[in-house]
Amino acid sequence: MRLFNAATKSLQTLPPAPAHIGMYFCGPTVYARAHVGNARPFVLGMWLRAWLRSRGYGVTLVHNITDINDKIYAAAPGASAALAERATDWYLQDVAALGLGLPDELPKASNYVPAIVDFIQKLIDAGAAYAAEGDVYFRVGRAADYGCLSGRTQAEPEEGPANPAKEDPRDFALWKATKPGEDTFWQASWGRGRPGWHIECSVMAEQLLGHSFEIHGGGVDLLFPHHENELAQSRALGREFARIWVHNGMLRSTGAKMSKSAGELVTLREALDRWGAESLLLFLLGGHFRRPIDFSEQSMEQAGARAEGLREAFAQERAPRDEAQWQALVEVLDDDFNTPEALAILHRWADGGQLDLLERALGIFGLSSLAEPVRAPGLVEQLARERQRARERQDFDAADRLRSAIEAAGWQVRDEAGGFRLTPVRVGKAGDRRYLS
Ligand SMILES: [Zn+2]
Repeated sequence: MRLFNAATKSLQTLPPAPAHIGMYFCGPTVYARAHVGNARPFVLGMWLRAWLRSRGYGVTLVHNITDINDKIYAAAPGASAALAERATDWYLQDVAALGLGLPDELPKASNYVPAIVDFIQKLIDAGAAYAAEGDVYFRVGRAADYGCLSGRTQAEPEEGPANPAKEDPRDFALWKATKPGEDTFWQASWGRGRPGWHIECSVMAEQLLGHSFEIHGGGVDLLFPHHENELAQSRALGREFARIWVHNGMLRSTGAKMSKSAGELVTLREALDRWGAESLLLFLLGGHFRRPIDFSEQSMEQAGARAEGLREAFAQERAPRDEAQWQALVEVLDDDFNTPEALAILHRWADGGQLDLLERALGIFGLSSLAEPVRAPGLVEQLARERQRARERQDFDAADRLRSAIEAAGWQVRDEAGGFRLTPVRVGKAGDRRYLS
């Protein structure tokens, strides 16, 4: 399998299976309900893990929870720890509702502070960092290959007033002295404070995956400075860190209803409640992970229609399984994880009755539910049984009346050897089914 590596700007091949693949995907800063765009790196990590495992790899996927961060202090002055805990629960509930399972490790930064302090001390000892009035900064000027990942080396504007003791405006904080109103802090030899965001990820990644691992992922908005700084910190201690950097494109909202305020997307919870996990996953599957994807009423309705189309495929008769066709899926997914092409193959299998292959592929993407038979309500089943008995006694008028009643309830009855099959009738647009209940 090969993936586009942001560090080399080229497609890079993974070691052959059954190698063990360590993957670290940057997770959320927990201070509010996750927006729907936060689902994209989570889903990509889970899909990659499932695909690599199906290809015979061992995989450990780490997805961190940033529960110490300026944004959390700002959102809940004096009570950031309680908010972070609540927002962590929200996040885990919301991503679990996607039906993809959970990553192998979900480390919280607050559980790694001693290891972070130790890492910072090593950087100071190596001359790669320095303490300045309670803060500790990374010396960007000493990192020879700084910028190798993003091509950028300039400083990001400071969030607050800059520390005048900083040697270079590009230097970034590894440790921040505690400020009034901050309710979480730890003691270190250079003062009481808390870690910076970038060092949290370097440490959690190395603690759980080792000094060298295969894949580091996250949104493309994290490429600079977050990922550049993670890499610089670990390289300053002579570690290889991640070999392949993958970045997902942003989710763009089009249409006023999709954003709450300027540029802010609806929450993942709202999207799940409104369209369901199947539609959301199919929407994401339809875009290549590296490109931006447009989230709109229309694109979600299209995804819902795709879900119904795939579900209906399972009402048809199974064609004999043609195992050779699986290779087509391998080719597109092993080539930079091209899910739009994979989706086209799934639809071909649906059209051609290759239901075994379709079911197996849907399982990789967390969409097994589409292969499950939709069960008709009891009353509809009863009408269908009455109709069957009417046919057996050759009362075709009664059988026709019962068929009409079943159809009026939103179901279609088909006679099969020894019985019948009920399938839902789509009325209007996807998701607008009317069942008799
Ligand atoms: Zn990170």
